[in-house]
Amino acid sequence: MERVTVFEPVGRPAVLVHGGAWAIPAPEHGAHLDGCRAAADAGWAVLAAGGSALDAAVAAVVVMEDDPTYDAGRGSFLNRDGAVEMDAAVMRGEDLAFGAVASVRRVRNAVHVARAVLESGEATLVAGAGAERFAWSVGIERIDPSWLVVERERERYDAACARGAPTFTETFGDTVGAVAVDASGRVAAAGSTGGTPFKLPGRVGDTPIAGAGLLADDTAGAAAATGHGERILKTGLCRDALWRLDAMPLDASIAAALERLRRRADGRAGMIVVTPDGKLAAGYNTPAMAHAYRAAGMPTAVAAL
Ligand code: ASP
Repeated sequence: MERVTVFEPVGRPAVLVHGGAWAIPAPEHGAHLDGCRAAADAGWAVLAAGGSALDAAVAAVVVMEDDPTYDAGRGSFLNRDGAVEMDAAVMRGEDLAFGAVASVRRVRNAVHVARAVLESGEATLVAGAGAERFAWSVGIERIDPSWLVVERERERYDAACARGAPTFTETFGDTVGAVAVDASGRVAAAGSTGGTPFKLPGRVGDTPIAGAGLLADDTAGAAAATGHGERILKTGLCRDALWRLDAMPLDASIAAALERLRRRADGRAGMIVVTPDGKLAAGYNTPAMAHAYRAAGMPTAVAAL
């Protein structure tokens, strides 16, 4: 069943983040909520200072990449080789500017590289070693990839090796994302992920694909998704939800896109959406999705699962 929440009329500016949609175990609830709250507060700080929606979405995602709780940046799931490979993307609704990276290993914040790709105007999606070389060439720090690996994920990987099977069905959906709208109704989206546990080396999910893992268009809104990447890709989840807004209300659009994902691709996912007039909504057909939002008049971000 789809669960969709439209938050109180919050107005502009506003920021909404997610920290993954899956059966988040109870002992991990606190860390997931705290991280989302901190991310929404970071995004809000940018907006409150007059910053752009894109800067706010990136600032929020960086906080969650640096938080080892999530499958993004440090703390990411390990692939079948026991290595972290990250995908990330950013999109600006004003001019549909888009930047993304796939399968990067030797950078701390993949979302910074995606942002640099957007700014470069030279490409929209850059992968692997070429993306890393591009990142270093624009001054993004080169790191030892072992810094991204945490004990929890090393143990998950060892257990998967011992069983000879991935843990995909238990733990998909710990990706992070953010959407924001500035005071004048310009929207943006950002997302970052280590992908799925025990994934094939080189596997790329929905996160760096416009229309699937995220979309930002000032004529409709901004959306960011998390969940079964291969299936989100097939139905173009974020585009599906935003394009329905011409014909139906926000909550119905999200529910219909998630319902189609489940019906046509047997997919489970969560998504967050902001509209140019400052409506915020979160929806998922998984057991839970960690999320948080902040807008004018709120002393701190409000988080929920
Ligand atoms: N959608 C992501 C991927 O397939 C996984 C997630 O949402 O955590 O790479």
